Amino acid sequence: MRSIDGVVLKLYHYIKYNMTGGNYFMHEEKEITRLKNFAEDSENIIFFGGAGVSTESGIPDFRSADGLYNQKYKYPPEVMLSRTFFIDNPKEFYDFHRDKIINTQAKPNRAHLALAELESIGKLKAVITQNIDGLHQEAGSVNVLELHGSVYRNYCMKCKKPYGIDIIIKTADNIPVCGCGGIIRPDVVLYKEPLDKNIVSQAVKYISDADMLIIGGTSLSVYPAARLIRYYDGDKLVLINKSVTQFDKHADLLLRGSIGDILGEIIIAI
Ligand code: ZN
Repeated sequence: MRSIDGVVLKLYHYIKYNMTGGNYFMHEEKEITRLKNFAEDSENIIFFGGAGVSTESGIPDFRSADGLYNQKYKYPPEVMLSRTFFIDNPKEFYDFHRDKIINTQAKPNRAHLALAELESIGKLKAVITQNIDGLHQEAGSVNVLELHGSVYRNYCMKCKKPYGIDIIIKTADNIPVCGCGGIIRPDVVLYKEPLDKNIVSQAVKYISDADMLIIGGTSLSVYPAARLIRYYDGDKLVLINKSVTQFDKHADLLLRGSIGDILGEIIIAI
């Protein structure tokens, strides 16, 4: 039976590989088995993720080939999403923010759901994300460290009153303004703004203490990802990405392909 299972599995991967235009990497069974074994042997898993986690929910990656950087705008996204642009051109900032950054229709994918499941059974202690779309929480994750903030939190720049996302959407074509007259801004880290030190230090603590660190959907080229993962001191560093990263050589287990498919495999096993 074993060999028949193997043939069926390979056929499944072959069909899937072709149906996805070659994006799906044909994993060796032993890699998936190692991933499952790592997860089974771990009680303190930390996940560190980037834009690639959300692309499978239809949210574009700024930096990928089909991402926002290759779309046609008057200014490039890294300009429109900078602090100086927001201060000088809040109207244009909000047009872009509503049109391209906020996506309340997106739904969590298998990666988000698998991570929420790992947390609910007590294995995963935190998700550290560079994404601002709130999809981990929507999937059921509780302990989410949002390094770059969230589009679902907004606040008045003058009196600091907190707002949800509704006021941003409702004031379409206008700049959202607080009752005190101050401009409301998203609680996201814009270009040229520092990260929240408290969140960074929490992330460092979680990564330092982790027995398994799964990194997914990030090229690790963006600050502070590259610096943060250096705090990991274990022997189960798993890297899941569609393309090559400069940290591949440090991984104890390297998996290429769909993060939703791969993390989905862990849940089936546990
Ligand atoms: Zn105010």
